[in-house]
Amino acid sequence: MNIYTFLILSLIITIYSIQTIADLLNIKNISTSIPLEFEGYYDKEKYVKSQEYLKEKTKFSIVSSTFFLAVQIIFITLGGFNYLDTRVVSFGFGSILTGLIFAGTLFFTFEILKIPFSLYSVFVIEERFGFNRMNIKTFITDSLKSWFVTAIIGSIIFVATLWLFINTCKYAWLYAFTVIVVFEIFITFVAPVVIMPLFNKYTTLENGELKDTIEKYAKKENFKMKGLFRMDGSKRSTKSNAFFTGIGKFRRIVLFDTLIQKHSVDELTSILAHEMGHFKLGHILKHMIFSFVSTLIMLFILSLFINEVWLYDAFLMNTQPMYAGIIFSSFLYEPISIIISIISNYFSRKHEYEADAYAVKTYRKPEVMINALKKLSVDNLSNLYPHKFKVFLEYSHPPVLERIKAINKISLSTKI
Ligand SMILES: [Zn+2]
Repeated sequence: MNIYTFLILSLIITIYSIQTIADLLNIKNISTSIPLEFEGYYDKEKYVKSQEYLKEKTKFSIVSSTFFLAVQIIFITLGGFNYLDTRVVSFGFGSILTGLIFAGTLFFTFEILKIPFSLYSVFVIEERFGFNRMNIKTFITDSLKSWFVTAIIGSIIFVATLWLFINTCKYAWLYAFTVIVVFEIFITFVAPVVIMPLFNKYTTLENGELKDTIEKYAKKENFKMKGLFRMDGSKRSTKSNAFFTGIGKFRRIVLFDTLIQKHSVDELTSILAHEMGHFKLGHILKHMIFSFVSTLIMLFILSLFINEVWLYDAFLMNTQPMYAGIIFSSFLYEPISIIISIISNYFSRKHEYEADAYAVKTYRKPEVMINALKKLSVDNLSNLYPHKFKVFLEYSHPPVLERIKAINKISLSTKI
């Protein structure tokens, strides 16, 4: 093992350790007493169940991340990348096709290794806690479809980047950035009508009290409703959610059927008011810009290291093919990606508070909003007391108790 390999492995192990420490702290932070706000929502038995769920999921995530850490270390130290490269080069294709086979083999090997873990997560853990509605057929078709979509999108981005780095000069990273941004905008635009229907059925919300109330509210807030959809989330899980997706003509607000079943018209309108808040306050656009900036940083790092021989030495390669360099530099990008995701999560949590405030100030029913949040977190057995470090690292939404506190504060100060 050379010093560069040692550094790369240390990097991987450090990241794994930080994530595992966050998980362990999170488990230690469990409190057995039901918080005052949740009395009447949780009975003792269900509350204990929610903690078991957290423990079960954490244990599982540590086991799987340890497994994948071991796989990576073994693969790197045994010269797996070099072996794979000699095999794909022996086919005698050009460097673009060779690169595509190289990256594709790695991707699918990883996906196949993930299958037993996904099966256990869905059919053992989620099943045991009464969430799972998926059958094996849905599991298989889901995997096939998502591989298909990832393979197409991934190949386009990979081939474009590789071609630009091989054929253009030192500004390849800027050209690649432009191509990727245009492509990503295009995907965001068409995803709601092309990609998402592959996985779920979206039906326009039927006429009735719910639709009337939402439309009345949207009209009052000057919000142009482009599409309000019900999604058959119950096909996979009893968990419920709502989200905003797409840009331009195809943008839409989506409610899970499971959410509609369990909430009152007022609660659903509050949840939608929150989603509209995200749009009105420009969160969607900010989020997109942020993701472009991180793409730019990633490509810049790629341009810095793709021609460095030591990078290929680190992964025990005998040659320096650029397609492998693209994959290797993603290891170097990993720590930066964690920092970027911490910043992005920080803003996302801030945006959640803002969207809550927007919903409360415009729909003016803070009690209903709080009720909806409580019901959501009980139904999804969310962790009420996540550890601060876990929140800092990974939470895109603030812990529910903090959100309730913030909503109460707003309703007090604005006398709603
Ligand atoms: Zn939100």
